[in-house]
Formats: sequence, C-alpha cells, structure tokens
Amino acid sequence: MLTPLVEMDGDEMTRVLWKIIKDELILPFVDLKTEYYDLGLPQRDKTSDKITVEAAEATKKYGVAVKCATITPNKQRMTEYNLHEMWKSPNGTIRSILDGTVFRTPICIPSIKPVVKNWEKPITIARHAYGDVYKSVEIRANEPGTAKMVFDGENGQHEEVVIHQFKGAGVLQGMHNTDKSIRSFAHACFKFALDMRQDLWFSTKDTISKKYDAQFRTIFDEVFTEYREKFEQQGIAYFYTLIDDAVARVIRSKGGFIWACKNYDGDVMSDMVSTAFGSLAMMTSVLVSPDGNYEFEAAHGTVTRHYYKYLQGEETSTNPMATIFAWTGALRKRGELDGIAALVEFADNLEAACFDTLNEGIATKDLVSLMEGIEPTSVNSKEFIAAIRQHLEKRLA
Ligand code: NAP
Ligand code: MG
Repeated sequence: MLTPLVEMDGDEMTRVLWKIIKDELILPFVDLKTEYYDLGLPQRDKTSDKITVEAAEATKKYGVAVKCATITPNKQRMTEYNLHEMWKSPNGTIRSILDGTVFRTPICIPSIKPVVKNWEKPITIARHAYGDVYKSVEIRANEPGTAKMVFDGENGQHEEVVIHQFKGAGVLQGMHNTDKSIRSFAHACFKFALDMRQDLWFSTKDTISKKYDAQFRTIFDEVFTEYREKFEQQGIAYFYTLIDDAVARVIRSKGGFIWACKNYDGDVMSDMVSTAFGSLAMMTSVLVSPDGNYEFEAAHGTVTRHYYKYLQGEETSTNPMATIFAWTGALRKRGELDGIAALVEFADNLEAACFDTLNEGIATKDLVSLMEGIEPTSVNSKEFIAAIRQHLEKRLA
C-alpha cells in the first residue's frame, strides 16, 4: 500500500469482530497501512468527541476510510459509560463534514432468495441525507386563521403565499432544501453509478411539487451533462421517473441498479429494500462525498445484545460479512486510486472466499434460517472467519 486507509474503530460486538477480521483476514495477507482513529465511545468521551472530527478530516485528506459500527449515546449509555456529554452520532458528524451521500447495497447469495422473486441482482439505495421533513418546522393551529409562507431575500426578493385559510384547527409544516446540497447529492450519485457500472434511477414527485421537487429534477439534469459522455462510454443510463412509477418498476425489475431517493423516500425505501433482500447483517453502506472521498462501513449497529452475551463468556454467532465487505470496499477503492492491482485483486479474493464459505452452507445463525436449497451448518463468528480464511488461503495459493 502507498496511501494509508483511515481506520475508524468502534464499539461492542463489532469492535470485537473488527480485531478478529484484521488479525485473520487482512494482516497476514496485506502490507496494511492505516491511520488509526479510535471512535469507541470511551475515547470519544475522553477527547470530547474531537477524535471523530479528526477522523473525518483525515478522510478528506486521504480519500478512503473504513469504519466500524459505533454507539450513538442515549440516556442509558450516559450511565453505562459514565459520559461527560451525550455525544452526537459519529455518522452524523462525519456526514456533515464530508457532505456525503449514503449508498446501501445488499450482499446477495444464491441460497438466500429476496422476497421479491424476480430480483436477481442487488438494488442500491442512495438517500439524500439533508433537509426536507427532517429539518422542517411545524405549527399546530388551534383556531381559525391564515397560514402564510414568507421569503425575505437579502437583496430584495420578497414573496408571500397563502398556504391555507383555516376555518378550524389544523397543522402546518415548512420545509426546505438548498441547491448546493441537491447538487452534491447529484454528483455523488453519478460518481457512484460510474464506480459500480450500474444505471442510476432518480425519482421525485415533480408533477405535484412544481418548484420544490422540480428543482431536484432540474439540478440532476444539469449535473448529468457533466457525466453523460462517461455514462455512454460505460454503457450505463440515467433514468428519471415519478416516485410512484419508480416503486412499481423497482418491484417488477431484475435489480442491478442504483435508486436515488429524496430524504424521506430513501428512509422508507431503504428499510423496505433491505428487508426484502433478507438481512441487515448482509447490508453494506458507503458514504461518498461530492469531491470523491469514500467511507465504507456495515449498515448495522454494534449488535449490543450479542455483546452482552460475549461479556458473559458466551460464544456468539454474529455475522461479520458486512464489516468484512467494508474492508474489501475500502481496500479495493484504495487499490484503484493508487493503481495497485494486487490490492484490488486481494479484495476480490476475500469477497470470493466469503461467498465460497456461505455457498458451502457454513453460516452464522442469522442466515441459517434464511437459507434455501442447501444444508446449512451454523457456526460461531470465530469459526466462520476461520472458514473464510481457509478459502482465502486456497484462492491465494
Ligand atoms: P444493531 O446493532 O444493528 O442490532 C439490531 C439487531 O439486529 C441485533 O440485535 C441482531 O438481532 C441483528 N443484527 C444486526 N447486525 C447483526 C449481525 N452482524 N449479525 C447478526 N445479527 C445482527 O442495532 P441496535 O441494537 O438498534 O443498535 C445497537 C447500537 O448500535 C446502538 O448503540 C446504536 O447507536 C448503534 N448503531 C450504530 C450504527 C452505525 O455505527 N452505523 C448504526 C445503527 C446503530 P438479534 O438480537 O435478534 O440476534
Ligand atoms: Mg428508516
């Protein structure tokens, strides 16, 4: 390796797996270079969460990061970890520094059939993670009256529209987005589609929302002009349609594309798509910034229930697939950026070794009940990783 990966360690069961994955599947085979940031909750507390900001800054500097799942503290964690403050979600902090878009892709295997039987390939959801209802303001109108929306521009634009004349009580909501954020979202989506060599779908409700949603469509169209030639060279397409039409087409599709969604649509659809593909433990996630920085992670959390068992000395059968694929995603990207073919090849081999293991029926508990047409053997996390290592050694021999 030439450039280090930004390595962000995390919490609980995934922190335990992190070390085993590195020791068994990475360090024996790769001359690994990382810049290590401990985002485990004790270290975040000790540094007043500065470590999270430093890790995000390092990602901007080097371009590729791999992150372990981390605890987002709540009230209960305050006492459990004796925290000085209820630190914000590290993912939120990193996302706001990188200004990124999150892409979630399921890891598919032949023995786990998606609920939608015509889906043959993974569907990636790209969720715009800024604004709309998540940054909205609301009013409860308790009596009849006039609701208005007002804009006072700094340079003189003044607009005022009546939203509704209330004859009785009701509710109101005001939301916004910015051209800058929508443009960033568009760039991240087009870049990711080129990386994946897959079509990009985008959907809004611009027939109804003629200014708000229409602006999303307009910006995507504008930004696409910068990517059109590259899309043509790769033989991939950008396709816009209405959200309701998109839902119908997605269900009838064979999969194998990226579906860009506005914030709320992405929130809802990513849960639907990931459930239909089988398991949260088989979902990877990558944050792509508009200037081309990447942060790879598993979509699931720190698997707290398993960790408490582990602390009591029990064996756990926690699925490490998504965390392994975070590593392979990061190593492959680093290899591509630095022109190190061997690193890309290693990432391919490690992923193939994971598939070899699962296709042999060796699986963690969560997958056993989902597998069809194969006689599965349930193993614990360590045994599963050991089996992957055997396949990896065979492939590298
Ligand atoms: P979670 O860690 O994703 O786990 C929820 C449940 O899903 C688990 O109890 C387990 O079910 C199953 N599961 C998830 N990943 C699995 C895996 N790899 N192997 C096997 N089963 C798996 O979500 P959570 O319990 O809601 O959150 C736990 C902590 O993670 C919280 O502190 C939260 O803040 C944090 N979190 C972090 C991230 C992130 O860093 N990206 C994302 C989400 C949550 P069973 O118990 O039925 O086996
Ligand atoms: Mg959701």
